[in-house]
Amino acid sequence: MLKQRTLSIIKPDAIRKNIIGKIINRFEEAGLCIIAAKFKKLSRSEAESFYYIHKDRAFFKELIDFMVSGPSFIQVLEGDDAVQKNRNIMGNTDPKKADIGTIRADFADSIDANAVHGSDSIDNAVKEISFFFSETEIYAQEHK
Ligand code: ADP
Ligand code: MG
Repeated sequence: MLKQRTLSIIKPDAIRKNIIGKIINRFEEAGLCIIAAKFKKLSRSEAESFYYIHKDRAFFKELIDFMVSGPSFIQVLEGDDAVQKNRNIMGNTDPKKADIGTIRADFADSIDANAVHGSDSIDNAVKEISFFFSETEIYAQEHK
């Protein structure tokens, strides 16, 4: 498996529940390393631009309102097959459909307040990482 990077966001609902550590533990237990991180309250324009792909969806305004409702904890994860591995750990978008033991099944309340974001492809991971981080803010394993 090739080492990959992916963008993870611990969303405002999970921050309010004080479960950053519990979520990060899932990543580390699965062999993913946090190689960049920041605590950040997205502006409305940042949230709209990050989720631009969903701009025509009925839930867009609700999604943006939620994403600007408090700070998020944004990370770059690195490891073997990181993009798909993170998606597997996250579980289905709708916590009611997510497998037991996934982050969303265990920690999320609803399809909109669903605890985490994760890039859905290698191409999107590259775009999403550069949306939030410059290369100098990323500490890959070889730099440790
Ligand atoms: P994922 O986060 O699993 O990649 P999507 O990219 O489809 O899911 O959607 C982005 C985010 O938009 C979801 O994580 C969720 O917060 C919100 N969302 C998606 N579908 C709905 C919906 N039907 N109702 C409300 N919010 C939704
Ligand atoms: Mg998505």
